[in-house]
Amino acid sequence: MSILIKDSLIISQDKGRKVKKGDIYIEDDVIAEVSERISTEAEYVLTGKMVMPGLINTHTHLPMTLMRGYGDDLTLEEWLTTRIWPIESKLNEDMIEAGTRLALLEMIATGTTTCNDMYFFEDTIARTCKKMGMRCFAGFSIIDFDTPEMKKEMLLPECEKFIRKWRGDELIKPVVAPHSTYSCSPETLQKASELAEKYGTMLHTHCSETRKEVYDVVERYGARPLEQLERNGMLTEKTMLAHCGWITKEEVRQIARAGACVSHNPVSNMKLATGGFTPLPELFDAGACVTLGTDGAASNNKLDMFETMKFAALIHKHHRWDAQIVTAQQTLDMATVNAASYLGINAGSIEEGKKADLICLDMDMPNLAPMHNPISHAVYAASGFNVSSTIIDGRAVMLEREFPYFDKQKIIEEAEKAKEKLVSNDAKQSTN
Ligand SMILES: [Zn+2]
Repeated sequence: MSILIKDSLIISQDKGRKVKKGDIYIEDDVIAEVSERISTEAEYVLTGKMVMPGLINTHTHLPMTLMRGYGDDLTLEEWLTTRIWPIESKLNEDMIEAGTRLALLEMIATGTTTCNDMYFFEDTIARTCKKMGMRCFAGFSIIDFDTPEMKKEMLLPECEKFIRKWRGDELIKPVVAPHSTYSCSPETLQKASELAEKYGTMLHTHCSETRKEVYDVVERYGARPLEQLERNGMLTEKTMLAHCGWITKEEVRQIARAGACVSHNPVSNMKLATGGFTPLPELFDAGACVTLGTDGAASNNKLDMFETMKFAALIHKHHRWDAQIVTAQQTLDMATVNAASYLGINAGSIEEGKKADLICLDMDMPNLAPMHNPISHAVYAASGFNVSSTIIDGRAVMLEREFPYFDKQKIIEEAEKAKEKLVSNDAKQSTN
């Protein structure tokens, strides 16, 4: 496929963070040329857009779109134990596929080109991402109880099979994802880290999301969650730590020393009232990598990374009484270049030779006029639904708001049906 994007405003996210005017030519999966004027012919031609790197969502649980709005206005512990865990136990493969398809539709429609997922039935999720053209780091969940998919003792061996199956894939990268220190024993954490090391895969886990989690883990193991991860080989330069809302200054340094990465999920944290503030300024000062995630749609309730960027900048300004503490540029970096470099993908910026993972926004929208500063617009003014085209690995998975490879209406209808089944099963079980 070849795509020419003409007369655009390009937020390049290159080393100099330059914003340019000009054309972009994409051939196959690569950005072949970026210059003031390109006259090459192409299969698709787009004009007059604001173009930026596709957004990278580093913490999500794709099928949880089925539980969007199921269990609002609860704290994390109540939400998990009274709503989410009971309904999750009734999930089957068809529901997972329907929920994942809906999540991917929403992400593609709102400008996400890579996600770092973690859930049950991860092979089904990986297959669905591959089919719909999403770049996905697929985290096979490891936890110390039976999942709706399999018995707990099968999780590690099945995870190994999953890694062997997907490790050579261009779009899908298998990840080992032990859920957390409160739901995985030290032995499970150790085995998970050994498995990741054996195959050189990434690790993905929840860490210090709530104060209660920290207290519980200290009481059970005599160590805070981060220390518990480190003791069991889980704090490495390939570890994505979701949340870190309740970490100390020493833990900030520990994360930076280990070369691990923090995925900051401000919307989910605020909605679940976790009370913690992922210490971005301290993490930046320590030189740690920080990226952004939405978390699942059950605790957000959207997968719109534009909204997450805005919240990420605002929450810290407000909390520290300092409007400069997290800037628009730093925020955009977290959602693009920082995440791409940590995950090891040759994307995150618009430069010749980079993977063609990029998005186009329509500029003739009321919330994007007038234009003083494109970076400010991307972080503070834009919404995911300003995105008109999404290109992943050189493929236009959304082109001028049309989806050439899938049926939007059918995906929404099937998700609705899956949700009905899930809820009716739930009702049946709870009356027994
Ligand atoms: Zn999560």
